[in-house]
Amino acid sequence: MPKPKIAFYWCASCGGCEETVVDLAEDILGLVAKVDIVFWPVAMDFKKDDIERLPDGALAASFINGAVRTSEQEEMARLLRRKSAVVVAYGSCAHLGGIPALANQFSRETILRFVYEDAPTMDNPGRTRPSPDSYDSGNRLDLPKLHSQVRPLAQVIDVDYTIPGCPPTPALTREAVTALLEGRLPAKGSVLAPDTALCESCPRKASKPADLTFTRFRRPHQLLVDPATCLLAQGVVCMGPATRGGCGALCVSGNMPCTGCFGPTSRVKDQGAKMLSSLCANLSARETDEIDAAFEGIPDPVGTFYRYGLAGSLLRRRIEHSTTP
Ligand code: SF4
Ligand code: SF4
Repeated sequence: MPKPKIAFYWCASCGGCEETVVDLAEDILGLVAKVDIVFWPVAMDFKKDDIERLPDGALAASFINGAVRTSEQEEMARLLRRKSAVVVAYGSCAHLGGIPALANQFSRETILRFVYEDAPTMDNPGRTRPSPDSYDSGNRLDLPKLHSQVRPLAQVIDVDYTIPGCPPTPALTREAVTALLEGRLPAKGSVLAPDTALCESCPRKASKPADLTFTRFRRPHQLLVDPATCLLAQGVVCMGPATRGGCGALCVSGNMPCTGCFGPTSRVKDQGAKMLSSLCANLSARETDEIDAAFEGIPDPVGTFYRYGLAGSLLRRRIEHSTTP
């Protein structure tokens, strides 16, 4: 009997999610024994044609990491959707836009102008920018077009399942692939991780006060963090209360706050808003200057509360009215 065909693809991605597949270590040999990996551009020399030639629905599953920023990424996502019985959004960028979606704070024109003209390291007196289509010796060259915003995969194609994390852990990946092969996946649309907040499984949970009161916020390098006490209780913004568990509490175990990469649980509409509203509700400061002083400890609110989830949040992007979109 032929083995199920599997594809891995990366869109706007750092490659860390691909590393997780490699981090399956010897388990990857077991995976290869059970499936045919027919497309994995980061690791093997497959071409788009190889996928185009397959009948629709021929792939048992495609694992797509990275957000969608360019016309090429959108085209590949749509192609893999057509060819796959199951599409899995793999990692924070595919799930919620991830780190690349922080660019949604700026217009495409602002980004291009900075990268190709104003960046201190740029030496480009002609202010040349890559053109989506150009000619060289009579041959036309088409480059992917940069969309005006970064989108999570589910804003572009129908997604069956999501494996969260930046990157997802090998354990979650192994469990999801095994469930897929054994035909015991949960309802379509599920996020394949526990639907409880990280605080529930945090080793510091017992030291989290029922009534938190904040006078100021500090970043981890601004204090000697007590390794046994809840980070929020020490005034360090830890996204645990607004973030789905299932990561093994790796960051908090390493004495660093959770930064929210697993996204919200199913009961939270907007991860950043939930965290921000809970911090504000528990702030002891009442006067404007006291409030400003407290929030000096959070110099980058978007990067703190929406580090991975801006494109998938209620906000999605910032519109700059004064420049070209
Ligand atoms: S989710 Fe994290 S590890 Fe994966 S591609 Fe995005 S930034 Fe990289
Ligand atoms: S806020 Fe952070 S450190 Fe405190 S219990 Fe929750 S996850 Fe743990």
